[in-house]
Amino acid sequence: MIECDLFIIGGGPSGAIAAATLTQRGYSVVVAEKLEFPRFVIGESLLPACNQFLEDANMLDPIDSAGFEFKGGVIFTHPDGREVPIHFCNNLGQKWGSSYQVKREQFDQLLIEDARNKGATVHFKTEVIEYDEIENIITTKDENANIQKYRARKVLDASGYGRVLPKMLNLEEPSTLQMRRAVFCRVDSDKRPEDETSGYIFVMVHGQNEAWLWNIPFSDGTTSYGVVCSEEYYRSFNLEPEAFLDHIVANHEKAGIRYASSKRINEVGTIGGFSAAVKSMVGKNWLLSGNASEFLDPVFSSGVTLALASGQRAAELIMDEFEGREVDYKVEYEEYMMRGINVFRAFVQSWYDGKLQEIIFSKDENEKIKQSIVSILSGYVWDERNLFVKNPQGSIDLLVEQLRR
Ligand SMILES: Cc1cc2nc3c(=O)[nH]c(=O)nc-3n(C[C@H](O)[C@H](O)[C@H](O)COP(=O)(O)OP(=O)(O)OC[C@H]3O[C@@H](n4cnc5c(N)ncnc54)[C@H](O)[C@@H]3O)c2cc1C
Repeated sequence: MIECDLFIIGGGPSGAIAAATLTQRGYSVVVAEKLEFPRFVIGESLLPACNQFLEDANMLDPIDSAGFEFKGGVIFTHPDGREVPIHFCNNLGQKWGSSYQVKREQFDQLLIEDARNKGATVHFKTEVIEYDEIENIITTKDENANIQKYRARKVLDASGYGRVLPKMLNLEEPSTLQMRRAVFCRVDSDKRPEDETSGYIFVMVHGQNEAWLWNIPFSDGTTSYGVVCSEEYYRSFNLEPEAFLDHIVANHEKAGIRYASSKRINEVGTIGGFSAAVKSMVGKNWLLSGNASEFLDPVFSSGVTLALASGQRAAELIMDEFEGREVDYKVEYEEYMMRGINVFRAFVQSWYDGKLQEIIFSKDENEKIKQSIVSILSGYVWDERNLFVKNPQGSIDLLVEQLRR
């Protein structure tokens, strides 16, 4: 049996930031990661708030110097061809007004290597196969089928789509969001704008809002693109993922032009039913962070932001507890995280029911409202100065009502 202060399941961004945060304060941290890195995971467009979390964890330097594509904002494309740019620098005064487009295989490896360099013990190709909640004992199995047991003061499940503890402890709950599917791929090149928006993510609405496409340009000239739609819409075509992707692109004017001379450089991937929720994010000896807790939807690229936010918040509270403060994880962790998640939830729901698109594509020039929206789309979802943070759905509804009048 090996003893440690914190045992982390999964070496993605959420696990890496938690590991780096604790290990820098002298605590012993063990990370078990099922796969060998670098490994592919979807989620390549970051928000400016990520820089803040990484800076606070003393992890920004390796990311800043990696040569990732500079992301200054988002371009939303209406089905009629209109393009609305959102520039992250026009926020409510928050420090970070830009971000990066990252190949996650490289980004995630930089973060976990940084955590390891700071002192965390990281075991790759090592899977968590059992958890004894009463004794707080974790069992792992490595690539040679060696079994190891750990007793930790605290366990953090940052296993992303693995959702290890939600499955083992029966914590999974249906998401409030509709079942959706994404179909995606990378291409060798695409026709990019020749101005400062060349590194922006493009979010292109398709048809009558039945689907949307993303375009994420990387600094090496390759590009990630994909389509997201309801499961029913996807099935209604009765096509293989490759053919479905081709069909949507061919029937979208802007996308068709953008990829006219692009060649695919990897296999088309697909993932369905990605929205997930849990009954609880905290237990006596464990916490869930990142995608292992709640995942909403890719439309506003909020996944890595929330993964870093929760990994860091969990780490700070765990250290508070280790240092003698009585921590109420339900309130200080779960309720806190849900406040930010619910801001994004209101934006996601209003994107799909069309209200947010009415706002984004309207000609309303109210500067404060625009900055408030930019601030949310930058990931600053806990900044109480923002009316959309204080009352997310109510503010959206009111604004739409005013616009319609
Ligand atoms: C279609 C789509 C597009 C997306 N686009 C974006 C985007 O543009 N921007 C964005 O920010 N987010 C995006 N996301 C969300 C993003 O993928 C996730 O939010 C993010 O990867 C979560 O990070 P994480 O650290 O929680 O988990 P992950 O990055 O998934 O890392 C978890 C790690 O745990 C490991 N693991 C799993 N099971 C075990 C086990 N039993 N034992 C040990 N290790 C284990 C896995 O191997 C993995 O490496 C998108 C999601 C989807 C579905």
